[in-house]
Amino acid sequence: RRPSVAVVFGGASSEHGVSCLTAASVVRALDRSRYDVVGIGITPDGRWLRVEADDVVALATVDGQLPSVPEGHPTAVLLHGTGAVQLASRDLDTLLDPVPVDVAFALLHGPFGEDGTIQGMFEMLGLRYVGSGVAASAVSMDKQLMKQVLAASGLPVGPYTAFTAAEWRDDPSARLDAVLSLGLPVFVKPARGGSSIGISRVDDPDHLAAAVETALRHDARCVVEKGLVDVRELECGVLEGPDGLEVTAAAEIRTRTASGFYDFQAKYLPEAEQVELLVPAEVDPVLAERLRDTAVRTFRAVGAEGLARVDTFVTADGQVVVNEINTMPGFTEHSMFPMVWAASGVAYPELVGRLLEHALQRPLGLR
Ligand code: ADP
Ligand code: MG
Ligand code: MG
Repeated sequence: RRPSVAVVFGGASSEHGVSCLTAASVVRALDRSRYDVVGIGITPDGRWLRVEADDVVALATVDGQLPSVPEGHPTAVLLHGTGAVQLASRDLDTLLDPVPVDVAFALLHGPFGEDGTIQGMFEMLGLRYVGSGVAASAVSMDKQLMKQVLAASGLPVGPYTAFTAAEWRDDPSARLDAVLSLGLPVFVKPARGGSSIGISRVDDPDHLAAAVETALRHDARCVVEKGLVDVRELECGVLEGPDGLEVTAAAEIRTRTASGFYDFQAKYLPEAEQVELLVPAEVDPVLAERLRDTAVRTFRAVGAEGLARVDTFVTADGQVVVNEINTMPGFTEHSMFPMVWAASGVAYPELVGRLLEHALQRPLGLR
């Protein structure tokens, strides 16, 4: 029988719609003569349901929202360690027939998707899956942990300070002093997040406290970074294959947004034309080699697997600073990661195929 792929998408995060569109792209690109597809959608209110492959593709035309679930429909998925998924109602009164699954592809970004939680569930169930494992996912999602791990491996990260909501409430002025000693502008971020959600650039000290409050609405800990100005924003895609790691040429993001950075609008409403993506970027050979080396070392430092996008800032004199590694980068056909691979000769359907092949060949259990 053909290997069966569980495409897991949707979710309770602010990136629900993006995830539905991604699932539609992936299922459309999947070679259905080689793989069976089992769609597993997670509704915004956290219910799980099976979605037929063609209905996943159709999500591209219904505004990227899962349709509402009929009354009485079983909406929880049990994933068996025996390589099958089974749909059940929450009270387990109604059980549908189990469906075989050989590999899971979770197209979920941010917390409860890219942060090791669903990866932990797959591990417990003995299910192979695309991408990084529990620890690498969790470390990469957390901007403070990530910087600590990268710095410990000798990778260049920018100056920053971090504190919890409780520490902020205890002594806000001590926290503000620590932030201001970085110099303005700063970037205030929830420790764990993505798509620029909850991030502010602060140029005026009077706006700092509000930016901290905003970040702390998204996570109980925030990271404040020195704002790097006059830097280029360059990103590389990394893929793990049978012969080790492959890295794309770098791509560049140039933003002219009102916020002064690559914000949520610029990422998802690019028709606003406030953002220019150069794929590939114009990069001299010395810098190209430095970026490639940084991408590989960053991937290895966090222990990533399968795929990642490594994002850097490059100063005028060619110094590379790692901004972040994303273990489940944006993955619609028009997202940066598939675009850099297309520019490096790996088209979207081949990219999807390679990720699945790699995941299917990974040994189960401790690796
Ligand atoms: P996310 O994980 O949500 O993508 P990032 O840390 O990548 O968050 O920040 C989003 C964007 O904000 C970056 O792509 C960049 O444009 C800008 N940015 C973030 N941190 C800095 C910084 N320290 N200096 C300059 N620009 C920054
Ligand atoms: Mg990110
Ligand atoms: Mg980013």
